[in-house]
Amino acid sequence: MAQRRSQLDLDSISCWICLDVMKDPVTIPCGHSYCMDCITNYWDGEEQKKKKSCPQCRKAFTPRSALVKNTMLSFLVEQLNRTELLTLKRSRAQKEINVSLQKTQQRMQDRKEEVKPLQEEEDAINCSADKALEESEKIFTELIRLLEKRRSEVKQQIKTEHETEISRVRDLRRNLEKEISELKNTETELKEISSSTFHRGFF
Ligand SMILES: [Zn+2]
Ligand SMILES: [Zn+2]
Repeated sequence: MAQRRSQLDLDSISCWICLDVMKDPVTIPCGHSYCMDCITNYWDGEEQKKKKSCPQCRKAFTPRSALVKNTMLSFLVEQLNRTELLTLKRSRAQKEINVSLQKTQQRMQDRKEEVKPLQEEEDAINCSADKALEESEKIFTELIRLLEKRRSEVKQQIKTEHETEISRVRDLRRNLEKEISELKNTETELKEISSSTFHRGFF
């Protein structure tokens, strides 16, 4: 009997207002049950002054219905001893834990599913970065090759211009030296002529 009662759903003997096991349970016309004090206090509240209604299903009652003690519920609640009540509370707590556990596991699964596309996106980013790097390497290699080629061309050009200029200057110098040498010869000849003419006593 104790085991059977422990399997009772704690919700069916709990008050919707105070959430505890019902004390002096009363059932109102809609069929919902509350502690006598809880529903009385609720109906005495400001909002309920004119029109009484069930806090759970909102069904209204006019005029205020007489509150009748639910003998069946009272009997059930009174029969429950502390140990059985504790067992019921533990079982309810266990149920809540299981629900939370399932929700947590589901959420974990959902997050794992969300990680997949992120991994794919990361792979795509890596791939495109690799391609961009490869492309830029190609461009720079080509630029370096062109610059090296141009450098060598400019070097060759300067060398050629240098040689041309040097040979132009050397030609000029050679010509001048040749002319100087010829002039020297002429000078010598003239001097000789002058000297022999003088000795022969032309003057
Ligand atoms: Zn209550
Ligand atoms: Zn109700």
